Formats: sequence, C-alpha cells, structure tokens
Amino acid sequence: MGTLGRSIVGEDADKIIELLNEALADEWLAYYQYWMGAKVAVGPMRGQVAAELEEHAVEELDHALMLVERILQLGGRPLLSPHDWFEATGCGYAAPEDPYVAVLLEQNIAGEQCAIRAYRDMMDFTKDLDPVTYDTALQILIDEIEHEEDLEALGQDIQLMIDRR
Ligand code: FE
Ligand code: FE
Ligand code: MG
Repeated sequence: MGTLGRSIVGEDADKIIELLNEALADEWLAYYQYWMGAKVAVGPMRGQVAAELEEHAVEELDHALMLVERILQLGGRPLLSPHDWFEATGCGYAAPEDPYVAVLLEQNIAGEQCAIRAYRDMMDFTKDLDPVTYDTALQILIDEIEHEEDLEALGQDIQLMIDRR
C-alpha cells in the first residue's frame, strides 16, 4: 500500500475497495462467460463471433488486473478465492447454456450494459474523492462501451443475413 496514496483518499478508502472488489468479481465472471461462449458457440458467423468473444475475454482479464492494482495501492485485500466471486458480483454470470450465437450475444450485451452502469456509478462515487480510481473506472468504461457496440453490430449483421436470405 502507498501510505500517503491511501491517506489522500481519506475515510472512503474502504468503500472504494469494496466497489473495486465487486468489479473484480464481475470481470472474472465476464472473462469466463466470454471464454466459454467462444468455445461452445454455434450458428451463423460462428468463427467471427467466437473471435470477438475471445478478444473480449482477454480485455476483461486486463480490467481485472487494473482493479487488483488499485485495490493493492489502497491497502485493500483483493478477493482471494473464486468462492468470493458470487458473493461480491454485481453483474452476475450467465452460463452459455443455449450456445446459439444470437443468444450468446444477447447475454454478453446484457453483461456489458451492467458493467457500463457499474463503472459509471464508480466514477460518480469517486469523482471528488479519488481521481486515480476515477481514471481507472473511466479507462475500463471506454472498453465496455466498445464491447457493447461490437456485440450489437455483430448481432445486427447476423439478423441481416437471416432477413435478406
Ligand atoms: Fe471489463
Ligand atoms: Fe466488457
Ligand atoms: Mg471488440
């Protein structure tokens, strides 16, 4: 922990660490949801959908890294066990039980929309308190907005392909 780095955040550091851990759980669950979705996907444009899901999986892991680094800087303890993920998660996990590409895209779009709300809330909470966490949340938010758009565009292309046949 950075002693002064934590103290400038003041008494809200623990609440910020809690928000960061909630987001950390979300990112790991999003990682697995994407990673597994890429393996099981079936249907039109399967290869392209799988490639996009795999790319997003990697980016969610990078978000997890950014969150852990901030938790440690604040002197917090990151969630140490996968058992903790379901306790802490705000966005949950949608298992790819129906592997049809359009269903996978819908599930992951819902996940991205939850993430967008969560990082927006994290920015609102940290705005005047903790500029470093604010910046982290902003950097991640930029990616989540891109993710949502990528998935929606793929879903539209699949729909167009079906409609125009
Ligand atoms: Fe993410
Ligand atoms: Fe994402
Ligand atoms: Mg993408």
